[in-house]
Amino acid sequence: MPVSAKQILDQTFGYREFRHHQAQIIEALVAGRDILTLMPTGGGKSLCYQIPALLRAGTGIVISPLIALMQDQVDALNQLGVRAAFLNSTLDPTQQREIEQQLLQHELDLLYLAPERLLTERTLTLLQQAEPALFAIDEAHCVSQWGHDFRKDYQQLSILHRRFPQVPRIALTATADQRTRQEIVEQLELQKAEIYVNSFDRPNIRYTIDSGQNGRDRLWRFLQLHHPDGAGIVYCLSRRKVEEISAWLSSNGRVALPYHAGLNADTRRLHQQRFLREEGLIIVATIAFGMGIDKPDVRFVAHLNLPKSVEAYYQETGRAGRDGQPADAWMSYSLQDVITLRQFIHATDAEEQYKRIAHHKLEAMLGLCDLISCRRQVLLNYFGESRTEPCGNCDNCLTPPETWDATEATRKALSCVYRTNQRFGVNYLIAVLTGKEDERIERNRHHQLSTFGIGKELTSTQWRAIFRQLISLGHLDTDLEGHGALRLTQKCRPLLRGETTLLLRRQPRQEKKRKTETSRTQLPPWDQPLFDALRQLRLQISQEQGVPPYVIFHDSSLREMVEQHPQELQQMRFIGGVGERKLALYGQRFLEIIRQHKPPELLNNLLGASINESLYLHHQGLDIVQIAHQRGLKPTTVYDHFAEAVAAGLLDVRQILPLDESDYKRILAAMDLLQSCEKGGLKSLYETLDQAYDYPILRCIMAAECR
Ligand SMILES: [Zn+2]
Repeated sequence: MPVSAKQILDQTFGYREFRHHQAQIIEALVAGRDILTLMPTGGGKSLCYQIPALLRAGTGIVISPLIALMQDQVDALNQLGVRAAFLNSTLDPTQQREIEQQLLQHELDLLYLAPERLLTERTLTLLQQAEPALFAIDEAHCVSQWGHDFRKDYQQLSILHRRFPQVPRIALTATADQRTRQEIVEQLELQKAEIYVNSFDRPNIRYTIDSGQNGRDRLWRFLQLHHPDGAGIVYCLSRRKVEEISAWLSSNGRVALPYHAGLNADTRRLHQQRFLREEGLIIVATIAFGMGIDKPDVRFVAHLNLPKSVEAYYQETGRAGRDGQPADAWMSYSLQDVITLRQFIHATDAEEQYKRIAHHKLEAMLGLCDLISCRRQVLLNYFGESRTEPCGNCDNCLTPPETWDATEATRKALSCVYRTNQRFGVNYLIAVLTGKEDERIERNRHHQLSTFGIGKELTSTQWRAIFRQLISLGHLDTDLEGHGALRLTQKCRPLLRGETTLLLRRQPRQEKKRKTETSRTQLPPWDQPLFDALRQLRLQISQEQGVPPYVIFHDSSLREMVEQHPQELQQMRFIGGVGERKLALYGQRFLEIIRQHKPPELLNNLLGASINESLYLHHQGLDIVQIAHQRGLKPTTVYDHFAEAVAAGLLDVRQILPLDESDYKRILAAMDLLQSCEKGGLKSLYETLDQAYDYPILRCIMAAECR
C-alpha cells in the first residue's frame, strides 16, 4: 500500500492533522501542478513541499536566499529521519562533491540551494542528470522590484520552467500584496498556478504600540512585566542605538547581544548562533537581523523605532511566536522617528514614483499607530483580509485608549505654525505656545504674536503628543530640506476653519500587569519544576547533537508533556511533534524525567485549577496574605478557595484560620443555636456574632463543620 501524506505527517513529523490549505497544496503538488502559496510564518509552510518531496520520486529542490538558515533546516529534517542536505559556499569542495554524488545516486529526499548557485550552468546540468521531484521557491516575494527584499537572481528563476518543464514548482512567501502576487506568477512563469492564500492572522501575537519619550524605560517595564526570562529581538534604527541598548540591558542583568552590519562577520555569526542555541537571550539589532532566523520560540519582538511600512512591521513582528505559543509584538516610537523617516524618504535620490510609494507606506504605518480601534483588524485589512470582530488580543482591545476632543488645541497648534511662517520645528513651536521666555523667540519678535502663550493649559509633553499625531494624521508635514520645520498641509484647512472636530488619543498611562497574564504564559507552579527539567534535558541533548534546542522539540511539545504526563512510550507518541524517529531517539529519556516528577498527590482531586493553586502554595508554607499577593488575588478569594478545600477534606480549618480556641468555641455555639448546618444563613450567623468575624472566616468554619 502506498504511503499517504497523512501517514507521513503523523509518523515522520508527529502531527495528527493538516492545517489551513496544507492538504490541498500537497495533493496538487504531488499531482504535478504549479502552486503559489501565501502563508504567514509559523503556518506550516515547509510541510507543503517537504511531504510532496517524500511522496514523489527523486529529490525535492528547495531554493532559498537564506544560506544561514540551511544548516538548521537540514539538521531539523535529519532529526526526523529525512535525508536532506544543502549545497552552498560554506562547504568545502570535498563536501560539495559528496553531496552531488548523493544527489545523483538518489540518496537525498531534499536538497537546499541558494538561487545564485542554482543558476550556474554546472548546477543546472547536475540537476538534469539527477531527478528533481519538485522545485520549492521560498521567499518568492524576492522577485518583486518594489519589495524591500528584491533579488536579481530571483528574476532569472523562470529558467526552471524552460529547463524542467515536467517538474512542478511551488512558490512560497509570507508577505505579498496583490501586485506582488501577480509579479511572482509572471516572473517565475508559473503555469496555470493554483493560488492558496491563508489568513495572515497570527492570533497568538499580541500587538501593542506605545508612544512617547523614554522608549528605553518603557522597554524595560515591558520586559520585566511580561518577559523576565524569554528570548526576544529588540529592533533599533541605528548601530549606535543598538550598541547602547544592548550594553544597557546587559548592565541591568539581561543577556543581550548587539547585531548590526558594522560588526564583523564572525561576531555576527557568533551572536546569531548564541541566540539560536541558548535560552532567554535578547538580540538587539538593526533590521539587518532576522531574514535568516527561524527560531520558533522567540517570545517577543520589540521595536524602539517606527518601521517604515506595515509590511516591514508585519514581517519583523512575525518573527515572534512561530511555535504558536503566546508572544508579544511591542513597539514604542516618538515624534523624532516620524520626522527622521520622512526626511529619509525625501533625501533619497530615488525616482519620484518610488518616493511616493514609500511615503504612502509610511502613512499607512502611522495610521496603524494612532488607531483607536482594534489593531489586528486594520493590519489584516491592509493585506486584503476583512475581519468583523475586534480581536481581543491587542492593546486597543484590552485597554481601549482614552480619547479627547483636541479640536481647540490643534487649532492653536496649527495657527502657531502659520503665524511663525512655517519655518520652525516642534520644540520652538511648543516654546511659543507655552509662552516661554526665550532669546530666540524675542529676536524673532514671536513673543508679540497672538499665539504666544495661548497653550499654557497643556504641558510640553502633551503638546509634543499633539504635534506627533497631527503629523501622523497628515495635518502637518516636515520641510523637504530636512531642518525639521513644520508646514501646514491641505488636509488641515477644515480644522483651521472650524468645520471639523478632531479626537486624539490621550497619552497612555503606565502599563499595569494584567490579571490574565499568568494564565497566558505561565504554567501552574507545581508544573514548573517538570517543565524546567524537560528544558534542561532538551538543552543537554541539543548540545550533544550540536543543534539548537528547538530542533529537538518545540516548547509546545514540552508543554504538552507537562500537561499530559504520559507514563508509557506509546502515550508519548500522542504528543504533538513526537514522530516515530524522535520517539525512538529521545522518548525514553524524556519519559524518565516525567516519571520522576509525579504531580502532587494533594492535587489529585476534583477541585478547580485556581483552588488547587492556592492549596499548593499553602502547602509550600505561604500564608493567606502571601498567597493573595503572589497570585494577584484578594485575600477573600483565597479564603473562598480554602473553604472549598476544607469542605473537600483537604485542609484542617484550625490550621489556616487566625483564631484561638475560645473564638472557635464561640462560633460553634452560635452555629448550634442557629442550626446553621441545616438552615444555612451565613448572614444571620455574622449578625449573631456581632459582626466580630469576617464572612470568609465563617464560610471556612461552616465548610468544615457541616461536611
Ligand atoms: Zn484587537
